[in-house]
Amino acid sequence: MKNYWILKLNKLLFILIVFPFALNPAFSLSASQRHPYPKGVFNAPMKLPPSFSGSFGEIRGNHFHSGLDYRTNQREGYPVYAVADGYVSRLRVQLGGFGNALYVTHPNGFTSVYAHLQRFSPKISQLVSFYQRKMESFAVDFPASSLEIPVKKGDLIAWSGNSGSSGGPHLHYEIRDTKTEEVINPALFGLPVNDPIEPSITALYMYRLNGQPFNEDTPKQYFEVKGSDGIYHLSGSPVINFSGDVGFGITTFDRQAAGNKNGIYSIELMLDSQVVFFFENDRFSFANTRASNAHIDYPSYLLYGKTIQKAFVEPGNPLNNYKTLVNSGIINLKDDSIHKLKFSVEDIAGNRSILRFEIKYNSKANLSNRKQSSGVKTFKYNEQNIFNTDDIKVVIPKGALYNDMVFTYSKRVFTTGYSDYHQIHNRLTPLHTPYSVSIRAKPALTSQLQNKSLIVNSRGSSQGGTYENGFVRASVSSFDTFHITTDTVAPYVKPINLFNGKTLKGLQKLQLKVWDNLSGIASFKGYIDGQWVLMEYDPKSRTMWHVLDKGLSSGKHVFELKIVDNKQNTKNYKATFIK
Ligand SMILES: [Zn+2]
Repeated sequence: MKNYWILKLNKLLFILIVFPFALNPAFSLSASQRHPYPKGVFNAPMKLPPSFSGSFGEIRGNHFHSGLDYRTNQREGYPVYAVADGYVSRLRVQLGGFGNALYVTHPNGFTSVYAHLQRFSPKISQLVSFYQRKMESFAVDFPASSLEIPVKKGDLIAWSGNSGSSGGPHLHYEIRDTKTEEVINPALFGLPVNDPIEPSITALYMYRLNGQPFNEDTPKQYFEVKGSDGIYHLSGSPVINFSGDVGFGITTFDRQAAGNKNGIYSIELMLDSQVVFFFENDRFSFANTRASNAHIDYPSYLLYGKTIQKAFVEPGNPLNNYKTLVNSGIINLKDDSIHKLKFSVEDIAGNRSILRFEIKYNSKANLSNRKQSSGVKTFKYNEQNIFNTDDIKVVIPKGALYNDMVFTYSKRVFTTGYSDYHQIHNRLTPLHTPYSVSIRAKPALTSQLQNKSLIVNSRGSSQGGTYENGFVRASVSSFDTFHITTDTVAPYVKPINLFNGKTLKGLQKLQLKVWDNLSGIASFKGYIDGQWVLMEYDPKSRTMWHVLDKGLSSGKHVFELKIVDNKQNTKNYKATFIK
């Protein structure tokens, strides 16, 4: 009887609450309610109180964050549980990236991913060790069948850690669409989020586009934003004068209960009563994640470290997260009235902040001269673009540019080098995919050095490369100044607790520092008495180690380590030790 009345009441509440808002679906329901993902089928992956040091879709360097980062009290070793029934479908030990990661495929079409783990559960660990031994490699990435490791909701599968390119202990947790591998905001599955605080809006920018592609020369005007508790306004409440095409952008972040600056869930821009821009962080594909650079004002990000989210979209931006878009979010009005603009920013818990301001057409506004772009060639975003001289070949594939651009190029002679310095456009223009650069080599690059040659950027970091018919060609991901250099230096090895002939009484592992100066470490193998042994490696701390087998006999043993860099420079390290 009691249940019956609760059902009735729920139905009534549903009608009362949901129906009046159904006409304006964008905001009246929380994001989790709007999306059809199954609710409550996935548990949280940890038993710690849910507190996040990173949110889904948060803008990071060159990508949107693909999961939720669970805080783990700055410590490693908290249990990680399967969020639902399924089976372990992929196991990965990666140098950098996700470090130790495991994937669980669920029968409902979704896969959960757990990354930066310290270690796997014993059964999973056994399978990984078996594979590492078989491949004679620390880094492995392999699928597991549904029969090998079935899991039940709540099974302990691993312990949280800091492996891979993690900047501190935490659990990186994802939900993916099993078929497409697109990542989906885990909060849309009804995961509890403790967040009573509205997002903050900290600045407004107006971009004077005037029919030209957005780039670092686009004039922009800053407006100070004031307010709190979800209500924001421009300092001094000015009516903004404008003419021609303008776009807007804001800086915004979300403070969840824990207090750090996380990403927001959605941004809406309304012009009078019309939504002209609506962006939401519901899901994205890894193929599109780099377009975070097109979503933001990338020049401001690189030059000033400011993450301004634009409310207008460039034509080559492939993201599917712009759910409403009128005229690409660009505003162009010529009447005499004052128009109202309203930014609404929502976090994943449904807390919303509003910034209202007014604009008015004024033919005299926006007349500040935009620097006239000058360059050697206009590149179209929707075509393949090629630039050739006697010294250089640049091939930018279709889909690499977010917008049309006036390409610039210059050369600086480097008399004693392997090549001149080639400035290929500038780093403030982001690219969606890599492109190919071929640089003519000088006679200093003798035939013995050709297979040691590579291309470096202005910061001296290796872009790789191969020698072909007088040129060195590499695939690069940014515009920059490039030249050819060589890597003839083998990787470095510095033992930490290993010295020739040392007695290792009580020691459990052999430890060394290992790094490479330029092209990077391509492979490493360790041997004890000629038998392959597992060497584990953490590139960010340059630490390599081997956990000694408890069954290793006492007496004298020979340890050998062979490390090869990407230009086949090889370091062989050898030491004897006594156990
Ligand atoms: Zn993460």
